[in-house]
This record gives sequence, C-alpha cells and structure tokens, in this order.
Amino acid sequence: MITTNWHTHTKRCGHAIGEDEEYVQAAIQAGLKTLGFSDHAPYLEPLPSERMNYEQYPEYLQSIASLKEKYADQIRIYTGLEVEYYPDQWEQLSSYRKQLDYCILGQHTLTFDGPSSYQIQNGDALMRYVNAIEQACVHGLCDYIAHPDVALWTYPVMDGSVRAAAERIADISLQYNMPLELNCGSGVYRGLKEYEDGERYGYPTRAFFEVFAEKQCPVIIGMDIHDPQKFLTDLYLERALSVISDLNCNVLYDFDLVQAAEKRKREFY
Ligand SMILES: [Zn+2]
Ligand SMILES: [Zn+2]
Repeated sequence: MITTNWHTHTKRCGHAIGEDEEYVQAAIQAGLKTLGFSDHAPYLEPLPSERMNYEQYPEYLQSIASLKEKYADQIRIYTGLEVEYYPDQWEQLSSYRKQLDYCILGQHTLTFDGPSSYQIQNGDALMRYVNAIEQACVHGLCDYIAHPDVALWTYPVMDGSVRAAAERIADISLQYNMPLELNCGSGVYRGLKEYEDGERYGYPTRAFFEVFAEKQCPVIIGMDIHDPQKFLTDLYLERALSVISDLNCNVLYDFDLVQAAEKRKREFY
C-alpha cells in the first residue's frame, strides 16, 4: 500500500463521485499520510469536456482548505490541479501555477478543444502529444507527467514511433527532473484490452516503462482517484505494478512534490 497520492479528483469534474470529505476519510482509512487534490483544471473559456466550471473553482479551493485544517493531525493535504499545456490559455495556467501547491500535467487533448489524446493512431500525432509535454516542461508548468502513456489508449501497435516517443519523454523527464506517473486509473479499471499486436492495458504501457527503466527516469505512482472507495482497494495498484514487475524502474515513494513545485516556481515565475 502506498502512503502518498498526488492524483485525486472531486465530483466537480462531472465524472467523479462522493464528497470531498469522503475522499479525505477514505485516504486516512487507507493509511495515506499525504493527499494531494488535483482535479481537472477549469478554463475561462468553457470547454465541452469533463471538468468543473470556472465559477466552481473558488469553492474547490475553500473546501480543500477547510478539510486541510480539520484533518491536520491525521493527514497532510495539498491543493493542486491536473492541467493541460494550452499556449492560448497561458494566462489562466500561470495564475494556477503561482497560486497552487503543485500542478500535474494530464495532456488529454493535443490542443485546446483539439484532437483527443485518446484517439491517437499514428506516429505524427504521437509526436504532437510529446511536443505538448515538452512545452509544459520548458515553461515549468507542472511537477509530474500524469499517465504519460495516455496517448497509447487506441494506438494500434507498439511500433518504432512508440519507442521514439518513449525515448523523447524519458529524455525530457531527465532534462527537467520531471517524474513520470505509473497511473492506476481508467487504463487498469477496464482490464486488458485487445490491440492489433495483443492484449494490454489502455495504460500504463510496458513499451514506455521499458524505456523509462532503461534510462532510470523518476517514476511516481498516481492513483487517479475519482471515487473515494478506490482508496480502499489495492487491486488497481497491483494491476499497474504488474506492468512493470520485472523492470528496474526508479519508483520514488513519498516524493515531496510540493517542495519540487516550490523550487520550480522560484525558477520560472
Ligand atoms: Zn478525470
Ligand atoms: Zn486525473
């Protein structure tokens, strides 16, 4: 069982369930010592996808702040967001960055209201996805890359482009000291999926983590919780770990993401 999780959503995103306090109570029950909330970032211009409205954002901050105080003697709570790198939303993104304890990058679409990262089927689109990750790091936007392999969700075969993408992400991770997440969310909830070249989880994806292990990139386990009950089972953690079980990954347990964020913010903002 892990004791730190930086990847936690709230019902405000529209595809999570339970009250904020239930997340905190379940995390305590599961033995967590550090809990970071990182719900999907709202943008000023509304996006027709799954995230809170901008109007809900102050209440999100307020709710977590009051839980942080209420449960201070039982668990350390931090406030973040899961952001995308969208250059045309930079003003908003940089204000989140300055305000919050930390940010994680979940590049769900290639551009603001552009193609979904879950629909990538060729090497060119995969490289556009990697470019977005790189730009987020170049601009100091985030403190870890959530599900770096989300772009392989419908990618048909583990071809040379996948290897090239993994190598570039690994190099970015090392250059910017940016941990890569082993995600225990949707990719493993749904079980093994059938692809042209065999069965695998939607993510995490072995082809990526082979490269991350070879290059000894820092890896953080992220539960990507959308339901408080998910804190109370090891099933999805075990599935995610099974993908890398015989790889020599550099997994950082209890990594202090807030300290890393403070350092990065001083450098960039
Ligand atoms: Zn979500
Ligand atoms: Zn997430």
